[in-house]
Amino acid sequence: MRFPLAPTAKIARHIVTNKLKGNRKFAMVLQLEPLHTCNLTCTGCGRIREYSTSLKDLVPLEQCLAAAAECEAPMISICGGEPLIYPKIEELVAGLHDQGRMVYICTNGVFMRKKMREYMAANYSPAIEKNLLQLVAEGLVTEKEAETIRKSDPAARQKVVIKPSKWHYWNVHVDGLEFTHDLIVEREGVFKECVLAIQMAKILGYQVATNTTVYRETDAAELEEMFKFLSSLGVDGHTISPGYDYDAAKKDMVKRLGKDPTDFFLTRQLTREKFKNIERWGEMFTIFGTPGYLEFLAGKRELACSAWAVPTYNVRGWKAPCYVMTETHYPTYQEMLAKVNWDKFGVDAKGCGRDARCENCMMHSGFEPTAALSSSPRDSWINFKYNFGSRPAPYPSSPELTKTAYNGATIGKGHLAEAKAAVNREFSGAKSAYARGGNDLPHDAGAGQGHDHSHDHGGSGGGCSTGPANDQLADLKAKIAAAKKIEVKTD
Ligand code: SF4
Repeated sequence: MRFPLAPTAKIARHIVTNKLKGNRKFAMVLQLEPLHTCNLTCTGCGRIREYSTSLKDLVPLEQCLAAAAECEAPMISICGGEPLIYPKIEELVAGLHDQGRMVYICTNGVFMRKKMREYMAANYSPAIEKNLLQLVAEGLVTEKEAETIRKSDPAARQKVVIKPSKWHYWNVHVDGLEFTHDLIVEREGVFKECVLAIQMAKILGYQVATNTTVYRETDAAELEEMFKFLSSLGVDGHTISPGYDYDAAKKDMVKRLGKDPTDFFLTRQLTREKFKNIERWGEMFTIFGTPGYLEFLAGKRELACSAWAVPTYNVRGWKAPCYVMTETHYPTYQEMLAKVNWDKFGVDAKGCGRDARCENCMMHSGFEPTAALSSSPRDSWINFKYNFGSRPAPYPSSPELTKTAYNGATIGKGHLAEAKAAVNREFSGAKSAYARGGNDLPHDAGAGQGHDHSHDHGGSGGGCSTGPANDQLADLKAKIAAAKKIEVKTD
C-alpha cells in the first residue's frame, strides 16, 4: 500500500459518513498555520509577506485544536511559517493525535534534528542507545549531542516530544537538488540539512514525506533525479504541486528580487508540459495523491476546484476562499462554507478561470480533493488500485546518485552572493539569481527590447476570457517598468 492502512480506512470512513449524511461540502485536510514566523525567506512564498504585520502572532494551542475539531478533517497539515518554531508544536501534535487525526508537519527541515534529539532525550533507553550509536557513526548526531541525550535531566525526560508514529509524517520541503533548492530557499546548506534530517528520521522509525513545488524554471529531468535520490533515502512518499502566482508571491518577486513573476510561476499550459511525466513518476516513486489529480496535471482531464475541502486556519481565522487567495477570514469553518459564493471561484468546464486569479491555478489544495471525492466508478477504481497496489521499491542508492544530488554548496558552487547582489541592486537589472548556463541577462531585461511576455502567460491561453488577468498583468508590468525605468510592452 502507498499509504498506511489505518489512516486510509479513517479517511474512507470520513468520506462515506459525510456522503451518507448528504453533506456536499466538508473538510478533508486542514491547513493549520499556527504562526507565520519563519527562519527562511523562500522565493515564491507569499505567506511571510501577506501576513507580514502579524508575523509575531500565534494561534493559541486550544484554538488550533478547536479549529481541527470544528472542521473534522481527518488529516491536518501543520504549516506556516515554520511550524517547528511554534512553541507548543509538540503539544499540538499530541492533541491532534488524541483527536484521532493524521498529522503532517510541513517543515523546511532545519529544526528537525533538534526535535528528534529531544525525542531521544525524553525516551533514552537501550533501544535508543543502539540508534544513537548508529547516528553518531553516520555523522547525524555529534558525540557531544549524544552525551547530552544520555545525560538527559528530568526536565528533558518529561518534555512532550514528537514521537515516531504511523499517524504522523515529517513533510519536508524539497524543491530540487542542492543547487536549486538552496537557491529557492535563499540559504546555502538547507538541502544538506534536509537530507541529514531525513536520514536521521528514517533510522529512528519516523515516516517521512517530501513536498515539492514546481516552478517555471524547474527542470523536469532534475525533478526525476531528486525523486530517485529521495527514494534512495527511504522517503515514504512525495507530494508535488505546481507553483501558483498568487498576489503576495507576485509582489515579492517584483519588489525584492526584481523578477517578473511571469518568468517564475507556471501557467496552466506550462504546468501540463512540466507534469507530462507525472503518471510515470507515480509508477516509479510513491507519489501521494490520487491518479485523477495526476491525470489533471498531465493535461488528460479537467477537474473543478474544491477549495472548501482543504481549508486554511491561521492567526486571522478561516482564510477564504482558499489556501492561496485571500478575500477575507471567517471566525468559523461553517460560516465560511455558508458565506463564500463558491461558484465564483475555480474553473469552468473548459478549464477557464471563473475568477481571473484562478486562471492558472492547478494547486494540489484546490483540485486534489475533487479527484479524491469523485464518485464515478472509474475514479473509484483507479483510486483503489493506486492506493492498494504495491508500493514502488526504493530507488537503489549509489555514489553517482549522491554526487548528482549534491551539486551546489557542497562542491563549492555557491550562489547566494549572486542572489544577494540581485536583491541589493533591486530593479537595477542585476544579474538574475536564477540565470543559468552563463546567461547573465535576467529574463525581464529583454522586455524593453521587444520580448512580449503575454505570449507565454496563461492569461492569453486556451481561449479563456483574459480581461481581468491582462489588467493584472498590465498593472504588474507597469510597476516593473516604473521600477526599472524601461519600456515594457503590455499587450
Ligand atoms: S482555483 Fe485555485 S486560486 Fe481559485 S479558488 Fe481554487 S484553489 Fe483558490
